Amino acid sequence: MTIDAAECKGCGVCVDACPPHCLELRPELNAYGVHAARYTGESCSGCGVCFYVCPEPGAITVYRLNALRPARTGVEARHAATL
Ligand code: SF4
Ligand code: SF4
Repeated sequence: MTIDAAECKGCGVCVDACPPHCLELRPELNAYGVHAARYTGESCSGCGVCFYVCPEPGAITVYRLNALRPARTGVEARHAATL
């Protein structure tokens, strides 16, 4: 996930709402004079809670990785092709 510090108003709602507590407020001030939130860099599950609670539409972006599918064996692939 990423947080655009220029769009963040520093309300801290996402910090309080994040289930694994992987968000924090930056010690420095942004251009608007507030402590913008940031990702600590660990434990984000991609749940999206921070995105939904944030009052600033452009501040938070959450990315989700597609689940990796195990490679099919030849028999499984032929069976799937007939379904
Ligand atoms: S997506 Fe979920 S786990 Fe990740 S930072 Fe946002 S609230 Fe926390
Ligand atoms: S909820 Fe949004 S505006 Fe508030 S601190 Fe988090 S990113 Fe910034």
